[in-house]
Amino acid sequence: MTTGTATTSPTASSTLPSFTYEELLAAITAPNGREILDPATGELVGRVPESTVEDLEQALTRARGKQPEWAAVPDAERSALLLLAADAVEANAAALAELLSREQGKPVHNGPNAMFEVGGAVAWLRATASLPLEAETLFDDETGHAVLSYEPIGVIGAISPWNWPMMISVWQIAPALRMGNTVVAKPSEYTPLSVLGLAHVLNQVLPEGLLTVVAGGREVGEVLSKHAGVDKVMFTGSTDTGKAIMRSAADSLTRLTLELGGNDAGIVLPDADPQAIAEGLFWGAFINTGQTCAALKRLYVHEDVYDAVCEALTEVAAAMPMGQGRDEKNVLGPLQNKAQYQIVAELVEQARAGGGRVLLGGDPLEDQPGYFYPATLVADLDDDNALVVEEQFGPALPIVKYSTVDEAVHMANRLDVGLGASVWGSDVATAREVASRIQAGTVWINKHGAVDPRMPFGGVKSSGFGVEFGVEGLKALGVPKVISS
Ligand code: NAD
Repeated sequence: MTTGTATTSPTASSTLPSFTYEELLAAITAPNGREILDPATGELVGRVPESTVEDLEQALTRARGKQPEWAAVPDAERSALLLLAADAVEANAAALAELLSREQGKPVHNGPNAMFEVGGAVAWLRATASLPLEAETLFDDETGHAVLSYEPIGVIGAISPWNWPMMISVWQIAPALRMGNTVVAKPSEYTPLSVLGLAHVLNQVLPEGLLTVVAGGREVGEVLSKHAGVDKVMFTGSTDTGKAIMRSAADSLTRLTLELGGNDAGIVLPDADPQAIAEGLFWGAFINTGQTCAALKRLYVHEDVYDAVCEALTEVAAAMPMGQGRDEKNVLGPLQNKAQYQIVAELVEQARAGGGRVLLGGDPLEDQPGYFYPATLVADLDDDNALVVEEQFGPALPIVKYSTVDEAVHMANRLDVGLGASVWGSDVATAREVASRIQAGTVWINKHGAVDPRMPFGGVKSSGFGVEFGVEGLKALGVPKVISS
């Protein structure tokens, strides 16, 4: 595909529709739908109309019918529409963030939470619209001529999780549309309203039929991933579900990008400044109350700075307010669902039983109505404790002491996952050298989880395969085609 690069929207943002929270909710809910409850309060957020397998069939037929027309639209126009879609999301940021906060639990304004996520959706739409993807001349000499370009794949099934439902959906939808595909999205059964709300806004400016959301349960995801009418599945979720999808996709040879679970290690080197890194460590681990794929999930600290890091991190974490998302002071929210709450509570118990020293938190907040688990730090753990080896996906960070960097690298690499990782130290050259030895898709230095639309992101080992973002991410939503003469 030869592309132009669009940088401006075709119409001004002032002409875009703007919904109140109530209007948005009314547009996407149904009186007889399934109840969605606020994880912070237990109150009803709204009733989601659940799609059936028949609805899915219809959505796929429609997406198939529209795809050739969309693929024929010049790339510069497709990019311009994505920019307009970004403007539409921006114009509805307040309503979208409120919906996200009520359904997912994350605070609206403070910290990297709901407004941050909606802002991320806008940023990714814009960045994806502007990525350059030119046809590449492979050779042009006396032996011949060959040009590589990327064609649309067809219909994309986009299956997403409940932790960052709007942003992750945009990560799947934006490159798919940019590359001339149509999309049928299947959100998590825990956060369908967020994705329906996002799609409702996007569909105010996108041509009809390019993007449909089927808000059904796991069985709808299963049918989607084995359906012959789907040409590629973009999946973000757990490793177990990724394996199930790969089995489902085998018969129809459906292409896959699998963004799966992680258990990211962070290594603090002996020359690190504990005070300087404490806040970065905190947000690396506790962003979205720890419910983040590429969050720092196990921390290895050199013995020279161990006590000072534990102390500085405890001080930072203890000062972070947790509570209901519409209360302006909070930066941490509840776990999104009871199952995840129980996983975290159980892992912390196993850490305590295994001799872990609880520096902060560790006891469920019984006096709150929602699924609140306090920010928890557990030090002095053995590297084989369950809180270290299993993905907690919540606000409980295990801290392990090490003596040599070789030992830390060995511990970081010994699990069968490798999404992200981080190295923390004052000498960046040394930190980069350590980073080069870690098995992960991305290794950050003195930060963690800082995804960027210009940097390809994906996992190694059981964290999945394929990448999103950057030009490599765009190419993943196309099929390579060579013309040789
Ligand atoms: P999940 O695997 O339970 O569900 C994800 C989605 O898959 C949901 O929409 C669900 O309905 C659907 N699904 C379930 N069973 C299915 C099946 N058999 N076939 C097709 N679809 C099916 O994951 P979750 O609990 O929503 O998310 C948490 C997990 O996601 C964590 O492990 C986290 O690390 C991972 N995650 C990874 C990334 C990444 O980019 N690598 C990003 C976010 C979350």
